[in-house]
Parts: sequence; structure tokens; C-alpha cells
Amino acid sequence: MWKHAALLLAILASGLTFDRPTRADALPDADAVFPLPGVERASSQFKEGEFGAFRPGRRGRRDCGHGHCGVDLCAPQGSAVVAVKGGRVDQIQHARGGEGGRWVRVAHDDGTATWYMHLDALREGLRTGMTVQAGEVLATLGRTGVSSSPTHLHFALTVGKPGHERHLDPTRFLASAALLAAPLDLTPAPAPPTPTRTLRSSLPEL
Ligand SMILES: [Zn+2]
Repeated sequence: MWKHAALLLAILASGLTFDRPTRADALPDADAVFPLPGVERASSQFKEGEFGAFRPGRRGRRDCGHGHCGVDLCAPQGSAVVAVKGGRVDQIQHARGGEGGRWVRVAHDDGTATWYMHLDALREGLRTGMTVQAGEVLATLGRTGVSSSPTHLHFALTVGKPGHERHLDPTRFLASAALLAAPLDLTPAPAPPTPTRTLRSSLPEL
């Protein structure tokens, strides 16, 4: 036992540090939901849609393998796209042009952010700064920024401040995320009926 204690002390004294994963790397997240409710996960990816797949002209990024900085999830046009975790909408690209087309970025409390690209119609009233819950609709899926690929959501997971992000491979995160049958229903519960006074008839009951 003393031998072990001595060894431990020796390790500590040597200043050996353990490479502890950051919270952002500690994937998967138990509370996360899949960004496309009702879409079968198993058939949602195509080879070129995998994280780190080859993209011409984008090989300089060390964090994205051969250039593809997200995962492409196939789904029909018009499918609901939901936030995978609670957070704050911190960027919206309204323009349809450009590589990612129309997109939304949601910042989460753990320092990560999730990106939803190739969107069509943004949810009415969606604004930067607003808080969203896991499963809450952000937009419908479109083909903005897509030319020949099948219709897909480009989903990305990053850590770091806007403009200085590092991309993480979201594959494990997505595999463990809960698949919702439908987006979160945000319609307020109907108000309870206001009690009406029962008018008593002055006539004797028959
Ligand atoms: Zn993509």
C-alpha cells in the first residue's frame, strides 16, 4: 500500500497533468434531441454528408478533416427543424445565397453552439437573442445553398466564440439524441372555462 502511495506522490510531484475533456467534448448529451423530428436517423446520412468528408477548397481546416464541418441529415423539404438543446438564438442568416444558404445558430450554456443550415422558412417571430428549448421549431428545411445534393440539413456543433469556433464531430451526439415524433407543441394550453352562475329557475322542477 505504501508503495502505491509513494508512486502516487511521485506522479503528483512530477507535475503530470491528465488530459481532462472539456464539458464541450463530453459528448453525448443525455438531454439532447435529434434536429429533425419524425425522421428516421438510420437512413439520414449519405457518404459525402459525413463529418470531415472531402470538400474541394476546404482542406485547410484542421478541425474538419477533409473539409466538411458538419453532418448532412437527409429529410424531405419542409420538414420541421428543431433546436437540439435549450439555448439562445445568437445568429440568423436570412439571405438564401451562400454556401450554407439560410441558417440559424443557437448558443448553449455549456459553451457549445449548434448550426442549422439550408433552411427555408424561419419560424414566425424567430429573432436573435430569444431563448429556445430542446425540440422547439426553428425553421423548415429547404434547399437554400444546395444545388445537386439531396435535400438535407447541414448540422454543425462548435465550441468557442463566433468567428473563433472549433468544430466538433456531432456524430455521437446525434446518435444518442432522443428522436421526437413531432416538434415541441408550443401552443398555450386553453384557459380553463370561466365558471358561469347557474340560474335557478323560480319554477318548480318538473
Ligand atoms: Zn453539409
